[in-house]
Amino acid sequence: MESEDAMLAVTQTTTPKPSSSDPRNSPHFRELDEKLRKVFKLQRFRPNQLEAVTAAMEGRDVFVLMPTGGGKSLCYQLPSVCEGGRTRGLTVVISPLISLMKDQVNALVQKGIKAICSTSEGQNTNEWQLVQNATLWYLTPEKLHSSPATRNLLTNLYKRDKLARFVIDEAHCISTWGQDFREAYTYLGFIRKDYPNVPIMALTATANSKTVADIVSQLGLCDYASFSQSFNRPNLKYFIRKKEKKNHLAEIIETIKAKYVGQTGIIYCTSRNNCERVAQKLQESGLAAAFYHAGMQAADKDKTTQDWQNNIIKIIVATIAFGMGIDKPDVRFVIHHDMPKTLSGYYQETGRAGRDQQPADCIMYYSYKDVADLINMIKKDENATADSIARQTEAAKEVYRFCENPVTCRRVLILRHFDEKFDAENCSPSCDICESPQDAQSTDVRKAVMNVIKVVESFDNQIPGITENQLQDIMRGSKRAEVRQRGWDNIPQYGSCNDLPPPLFESMIHKLLLDDVLAKFAVRNASGYHTEYLKLGDVKFPAQQEYIVQWRDRSGANGSGSKRRNQNNQPETISAPAPRSRKGKHKALEIDEDPIEMYADD
Ligand code: ADP
Ligand code: MG
Ligand code: ZN
Repeated sequence: MESEDAMLAVTQTTTPKPSSSDPRNSPHFRELDEKLRKVFKLQRFRPNQLEAVTAAMEGRDVFVLMPTGGGKSLCYQLPSVCEGGRTRGLTVVISPLISLMKDQVNALVQKGIKAICSTSEGQNTNEWQLVQNATLWYLTPEKLHSSPATRNLLTNLYKRDKLARFVIDEAHCISTWGQDFREAYTYLGFIRKDYPNVPIMALTATANSKTVADIVSQLGLCDYASFSQSFNRPNLKYFIRKKEKKNHLAEIIETIKAKYVGQTGIIYCTSRNNCERVAQKLQESGLAAAFYHAGMQAADKDKTTQDWQNNIIKIIVATIAFGMGIDKPDVRFVIHHDMPKTLSGYYQETGRAGRDQQPADCIMYYSYKDVADLINMIKKDENATADSIARQTEAAKEVYRFCENPVTCRRVLILRHFDEKFDAENCSPSCDICESPQDAQSTDVRKAVMNVIKVVESFDNQIPGITENQLQDIMRGSKRAEVRQRGWDNIPQYGSCNDLPPPLFESMIHKLLLDDVLAKFAVRNASGYHTEYLKLGDVKFPAQQEYIVQWRDRSGANGSGSKRRNQNNQPETISAPAPRSRKGKHKALEIDEDPIEMYADD
C-alpha cells in the first residue's frame, strides 16, 4: 500500500465525521421507517441501523462495524428500496460466500424486492437484462475481478448514472490481518478509482483498529460516516476448559445430554478427520448430529446446512469452513473441541450462538498440544511468507495465552482484542474466571526454571534426548523403573521441582516453550513415528528476574478447581508424586496426518 493512503486512512479513522444530529429529524426518516415496517416487516431499528441508513441516504460513504447478528444487511437493503435521497439505481453488493448470497437473494425476493446474484460459477446469458431491472445485485469479488463483461456492464450503468451504491460485506476479508483474508478483495480498490461518484458502504463484524485502517485505505473511503458499537455479546457465557487426560469428547457428550437436550448447537474441530469422528461418536450416542467441512461435495454441504437450518439435525460438527454468514437464531451452544487458530476466529465462531439474544453457552477445550499442532501446521505451509507464518504463529500463541490466563475475565480479554475496554464488573452472565476468581494463582518459578534449564542443557545434542514427560519425571522425582534404570535419579536436580503441583509444572514448561526459552525438535524413526525432544530455545532465560506463572489449581474432580492449600493459602507441597504407570505414556507420538482446516469456505 502507498504509505500516503495509509496515513490518510489512519487520520480518518480517528476523526470520522459524526452523522447528522438526530436521524429522526432527517427528511428521509418517514420513508425509511415506513419501508422498515411494510417491506421488511420489522418493528423498530436496532442500534446504529437508522444512523447508518440515514447516512447512506445522504449519499455518504459509510463504515459499519457491528457484531455478528447485529443486523448489518438491513443497513444497505433498506436504502436500496427507497426512492428519496441519493439512492436511486442499482445497489451492487460484494459478498464472499455464494451460499450466503443465495439465501439473502431468496429472502429479498420473497419480500418482493428485485434481487439477483452472479457468481463466477457460470456466465448468465441474460445477466444484462436482469441487471437493468434489479434493485440489488450480489456479486462475489472473484466474479467482479475476473469478468470483463461484468465490468463493462457496471461501466455502462455508471455512465447512465444508474449505480446507487457499492456495498462491501464482510469487509475484513480485505485485510491480511484477519483469518478470512480473500485475495480477490484486495482488487476492490478499483471501485473508487473507476466509479468515483458512487458511494461505498463497508460492513464487518471483525475489525480491530489495524483492520479498520486497512479497509478504509484499500477501499479509498472518504469523508465517511462510521458506526461502531460494543462487541460485547451480553447473552453469551464463556467457559474455557483444559483438556484433561481423559477423553474430553465423552465429557462434551455428557454435557450436551445433561444441559442441551433437543437444542441446537455447533461443535468446532480443527481438522476434517476429527470433525467426522466426533460427529460419528455423537450419532452413536443417539444425538442428531452431522459433520461439515471443506472437503465435502457442494451438494452434501448444502444438504447438511439445510437439515440443520430446518432442525432435522440439531448439532453440526464443523471445521472453520462452516459458519460465515450462518443465520440461525436459536443456537444454544458453541463448543470448541479444539483450540481455535485466532482470537478473532474464536469470537466469530462463538458469535454464532444466541443470535436471538437469548442465553447461550460457549465452551472451549484446549491443550498445549493444540497450539503446538497449529504452529507445526502453520510452518508447513509452503506458500506462506515468513511474515505471514510469524503472524499466524503469534495469533495461535495469543489464543493459548488467553486460555491459560487464570486471572482476567474472558470477556475483558476478548474485547481487548478488538481494542475495546470492558469492566469485568459487568461480566454478566459470567465467565469461568469471574465465577471462581479464588482459583487463580500466581507463582514465581524462577528457581525451578533454572533447574529445568540445567537438566535440558545436559541432554542437549544427545540422541535420544529428553521428552517433556521424561523431564517431568526427573524434575518431580518420579520413582518409575525407567527413571532408575537410566540413572536419572542421580541427576543433581532430580526431584527439585517436587514442590510444584502438576498443573503449575505443566503451565511452567508450556510457558517456557511459548516464550522460546525451551524448544522442541522431532526425530523420526524408521517406522514413521516421531518423538519430540526438548532443547534450549533461542531466548536466553532472564535469570535475574522473577518468572511468574499464572495458573489454576485444577487438582479437583472434573478440573473444577477445588483447592488443595495449606493454611497460608500457599499451594501445598506434594512430596511424592503418584507413580505414573499408565501404559503407553512414553510411546512415540504418531505423526499427525490430520491436517487442520486453514480457511473458511468459499
Ligand atoms: P449481520 O449481517 O450483522 O450478522 P444480519 O443482517 O444477517 O446480521 O441480521 C441478523 C438477523 O437479525 C436477521 O435474522 C435479521 O432479520 C434480524 N434483524 C435485522 N435487523 C432487525 C431489526 N431491526 N429488528 C429485528 N430483527 C432484525
Ligand atoms: Mg452479514
Ligand atoms: Zn468474566
